[in-house]
Amino acid sequence: MVISIPKGTKDILPSEVYRWHWVEESFRDCCARYGFSEIRTPLFEHTELFKRGVGDTTDIVQKEMYTFELAGRSLTLKPEGTSPVVRAYIENKLYAEPMPAKYYYNIPCFRYEKMQKGRQRQFHQFGIEIFGTENMMADAEVIALAMDYLSGLGIDDLSLRINSIGCPACRTEYKKVLQEYLAPKLDILCDTCKDRFDRNPMRILDCKSPVCKEATRDAPRMIGYLCAECKEAFEDLRDNLTALSIPYTIDTDIVRGLDYYTKTAFEIVSDKIGAQSTVCGGGRYDHLIEEIGGPPTPGVGFGLGIERLLLVLDAAGIRIPKPEPCDVFIAVLGNEPRAQALQIAQSLRSAGYKILTDVMGRTLKAQLKYADRSEASYTVIIGEDELQKGVVSLRNMKQSTQKEIKIDEITAEIR
Ligand code: ATP
Ligand code: MG
Repeated sequence: MVISIPKGTKDILPSEVYRWHWVEESFRDCCARYGFSEIRTPLFEHTELFKRGVGDTTDIVQKEMYTFELAGRSLTLKPEGTSPVVRAYIENKLYAEPMPAKYYYNIPCFRYEKMQKGRQRQFHQFGIEIFGTENMMADAEVIALAMDYLSGLGIDDLSLRINSIGCPACRTEYKKVLQEYLAPKLDILCDTCKDRFDRNPMRILDCKSPVCKEATRDAPRMIGYLCAECKEAFEDLRDNLTALSIPYTIDTDIVRGLDYYTKTAFEIVSDKIGAQSTVCGGGRYDHLIEEIGGPPTPGVGFGLGIERLLLVLDAAGIRIPKPEPCDVFIAVLGNEPRAQALQIAQSLRSAGYKILTDVMGRTLKAQLKYADRSEASYTVIIGEDELQKGVVSLRNMKQSTQKEIKIDEITAEIR
């Protein structure tokens, strides 16, 4: 029986991987322009890290983690990127370095979720984090980087939505108000939200179920209950975005829903990719680093779903430049010229050209057919005649023309 790929995962085939390279390279470039350095953390961590870093009450920790036991330890494939970065920051005492700390990453994430368009069980994320400042300049920079990156790819019709989810002080107050409002409607909420009512009532606000949406339509929102400090921070953020000429709307339904998430929450949304429309989600987490055992350090960052980004690029009809697969195919006729052919191939590769050679011992006709299918721009043909004369035949594959040239003239001809 043929073994198939696990549900919720996808192969990225050679014919499409150039699209990944393109978005990855642009992301690296963009992060460098904003002074972020890459950080790479392991694929799995101690389960406890995510229980603390994502939060025991979240959907991720409650039912979505790929957790396994090995040698008496509980390990989990990373469902998200921030907690591992925080763990590495603390463990390597990176807080001793100049502040703020600015990191980016490109990671696979694993979540046992229901399969839908734009929702996989292994998916990929770009992320950035800034540790060490409460200043809303950092939040604005995080958002600016995301918007800059996306518009650099040619996507300019995404909408930025921002919200403030307050701090533990004002949120405790607000949670009570919200629970009072929702208590009489508890019966009609979806099962997940019934469950959220006690542990995480704010999450009910961003439930996608139409019933819950209707039930919470007129519910009080956090934004109306912010303390003076949170209110001022939100004003600062808005001023900074205005200064950066970044348009936004305030969406009071955006919730990160964890105790250590604070103040800024934002999403970048596309209306072209269906129900899973959030391409990028981020916000501030001023109590997370302390929660994981580090010195009290504020932080802010985002996660950007790469599969959803590629869906947006498709939907917007953005053509991703496809690299030329092959500059020159080196065809050999007969046994004698093989050594010469190999030397030509290696010297052209050293000079930076993409070179294919015949590694199957095929006939000249078959080699030329393969050169054609490989989309080679040129074919160098070397047979016994050519070898004796110290020349090669150079075939221009697009124009179907051919001429004899000296070996040292090849690079000048194929330029
Ligand atoms: P959603 O509401 O779409 O489930 P989330 O709040 O769970 O998102 P985050 O944890 O903030 O998502 O992750 C950041 C980004 O990663 C999302 O905005 C999305 O683009 C992407 N993402 C999250 N879960 C998945 C998934 N299962 N498959 C593909 N992409 C995902
Ligand atoms: Mg989710």
